[in-house]
Amino acid sequence: MSTARENKLLDYRSDTVTRPTAGMLDAMMRADVGDDVYGEDPTVRQLEEATAAWFGMEAGLYCPSGTMTNQIAIKLHTQPGDEVVCDRLAHIYNYEGGGIAFNAGASVRLIDGDRGRMTAAQVAANLNPDDLHFPPSTLVALENTVNKGGGCCYPLAQMQEVAALCRQRGIACHLDGARVFNALVATGDDPKAYGQCFDTISVCFSKGLGAPVGSVLIGSAQALHKARRYRKVFGGGMRQAGYIAAGALYALHHQVDRLADDHRRAAQLAKALTGLEYVGEVYPAETNIVIFSLREGLAPADLLAYLRARGILASGFGPKHIRMVTHLDIDDVMLTQTLEALQAYAPQGVTL
Ligand SMILES: *Cc1c(COP(=O)(O)O)cnc(C)c1O
Repeated sequence: MSTARENKLLDYRSDTVTRPTAGMLDAMMRADVGDDVYGEDPTVRQLEEATAAWFGMEAGLYCPSGTMTNQIAIKLHTQPGDEVVCDRLAHIYNYEGGGIAFNAGASVRLIDGDRGRMTAAQVAANLNPDDLHFPPSTLVALENTVNKGGGCCYPLAQMQEVAALCRQRGIACHLDGARVFNALVATGDDPKAYGQCFDTISVCFSKGLGAPVGSVLIGSAQALHKARRYRKVFGGGMRQAGYIAAGALYALHHQVDRLADDHRRAAQLAKALTGLEYVGEVYPAETNIVIFSLREGLAPADLLAYLRARGILASGFGPKHIRMVTHLDIDDVMLTQTLEALQAYAPQGVTL
């Protein structure tokens, strides 16, 4: 079996780069499968039900990607010409290929939240009144943890306030929970409290949970019945998908608590970076994502190249920032090696 460890690459580009563990591969090989477009794959059904139950919701739908679960949710909650309210940093706005317009024909209202987190007051100020001049505001979408915000978590009360506002105004509320398990582990919140806030939640299994493929959209049975139709339209109906769903199910049962290790390592990384002279700003590391900038005049590309030459991969994140993500395939030995390389970096041509 080939793992990142054997490849000797210390890959911090994303928590999507993990390979299945031996236990996960074994569960996948032994999966009980059927044709899921006919609703006959027992493993997929088990995954959908288990994910929904985790958050106290009625039903689930297994999809190939988190982009698809988000896009199906947006399609579910809007009509062409409607407006979606989200933060400027939102994945649904920045990283889904313009899908809000392409798939749902909706426009977007962007809010400048606190590292991607919107308050109820900010949302309220950006909901259009019922006036024929304005696009109808029909969906508010939150993200937790916020990827571009450095993996920060919403306080539960803040999500509840946004949810209460949406309910009061008859507007749907969706959570992009690509890393919702990181938020749950970091905060200790009750997942059922999250389930009560939202009409739909998208949960990714191919991020920190370490499964190779897939996301589950959860919500009411009625919403998910319609979502199943949209999944087919989007080309996401899969046949013996139980083989990959088994990886996700294994992750749900065995790889949730270990996210705390990723969080501890990210905090160690952020702390070490904060002490380095060539580093500018370091975002607070609440979960498994570390975002930092370099001191004025230093090029992120130079540090990235230096790290790459030592078998350490990180991502440029916008023109000024670098993102490093801890995950299942980064252990303490690898982290120590990374901290040593970062400490030894001496930028050329600049007096610090
Ligand atoms: C990764 C991610 C997604 C979904 O990405 P896919 O690659 O399509 O699975 C959605 N939202 C956030 C915040 C993400 O980080």
